[in-house]
Amino acid sequence: MVTHRGRLTPIALLVVPPIYDFKAYDFWMKFPGLLKIASTLQDSGWQIYFFDFLDRAHPWMATRSKPGTYGRGKYYAVEVPKPTIFKAIARRFKRYGLPKQIFEQFLNSIPKPDYVFIAGGMTYWYLGVKEVVEIIRSYYPNTSIVVGGVYPTLMPNHARRLEVDHIVVGNDTSLFNKLGIKSTSATPLWRLYPKLTYGVINFTYGCPLNCTYCAAHKLHERFIVRDWDIVADELLYFGKLGITDIAIYDDALLFKAKEILPKLLDLLHRYNLRFRFHTPNGSHVRLIDRDTANLMRATGFTTIFLSYETHNLQRQKLLGNKVTEEDLISAIEALRSVGYTGCNLIVYLLTGLVDQPASEVEEGIHFLHKLGVSIMLSEFSPIPGTPEGEKARQIIDMDEPLCHNNLYFTTLVLGDRPLQRLKSLKNHYNRIIRSTCTSKT
Ligand code: SF4
Repeated sequence: MVTHRGRLTPIALLVVPPIYDFKAYDFWMKFPGLLKIASTLQDSGWQIYFFDFLDRAHPWMATRSKPGTYGRGKYYAVEVPKPTIFKAIARRFKRYGLPKQIFEQFLNSIPKPDYVFIAGGMTYWYLGVKEVVEIIRSYYPNTSIVVGGVYPTLMPNHARRLEVDHIVVGNDTSLFNKLGIKSTSATPLWRLYPKLTYGVINFTYGCPLNCTYCAAHKLHERFIVRDWDIVADELLYFGKLGITDIAIYDDALLFKAKEILPKLLDLLHRYNLRFRFHTPNGSHVRLIDRDTANLMRATGFTTIFLSYETHNLQRQKLLGNKVTEEDLISAIEALRSVGYTGCNLIVYLLTGLVDQPASEVEEGIHFLHKLGVSIMLSEFSPIPGTPEGEKARQIIDMDEPLCHNNLYFTTLVLGDRPLQRLKSLKNHYNRIIRSTCTSKT
């Protein structure tokens, strides 16, 4: 067993921080990477404590947040002063998640941790990480604080400037090596949640493509398929809990659809399980043919987000050439042929790229509406180190993560009024589509 500071059982506290932003919604948001660390530590004999500021099922938040569809819902939020950089944005700035006092009560109820692991989400959410670091420092000046996830991976120098002891960039395992812990491909320790309103799963990590605006390659160097037995265990656990909705976090599942989905179908039949799967990360349109659509339907894919990005052919090519108009039309035909409707087919349009006029987004919205699908505007957040993100240096300070805020950046590029106009048009069309839905779709 690992020994640490003279104690036989080292103690780890793992924390999901609150979010500071103009808007945040529980769009099936969990941090399985943090739960995998919990699993690995537990397997090495550590005692684990866990606190998720964004847990809507927490008894305090459950009575103060509004549930939405498919397990999603609103967070409890309070308005907070806007950072100076956002002064020109005519929107209220908020802190989303459980109040500090609830966390402090929790800290008072657990033994002093040796290590605190904090999940770093979006770069522009670092104020939440900072808040947790400050609270921990005030309670336990000598406890080691570790921050991992997207934020330190994309902005390591910035993350180091918070008062932390270690940052984990990507899947680096040097900290575990230092602690004498064997890093495993562990199953996320979902049981740390007393209650779950949905599950999240990855069948694969990474993506074989390399679009110019995307962070996939920075977060996962290679495209890999997860060990099926581990995935199956996770699904069986969700089944045992009676969970209905599962968000698939994969970036590129459909590259392996014909290998993975039949196995999934078999598992569901064998254990008599039924889930509604959702693909918030956007599915590869070009890879959806009739067979894949059939498999998606049979396995329970319910809300299918499709990545189209732009209706401008030239830009489609420049961004990575992953989809064309013809690909989208054919994918939608295939999906409709197996029973999907415009209510469960939602297509992403990138909005607010550095040199993108509002008219380009508007054309995309009209085009998608003619196809009879729902539309989601994906407000652009420039990612440091990507070609499209680096173009933003001409407009903003890319070394300040708050500048990556998608609403801030999109407003800067398009202007508030044109952006609102695009959103109104999109909402108008989505209402029309929704009015055609039955309760089953
Ligand atoms: S296909 Fe999607 S996940 Fe892959 S690189 Fe492009 S945007 Fe990223």
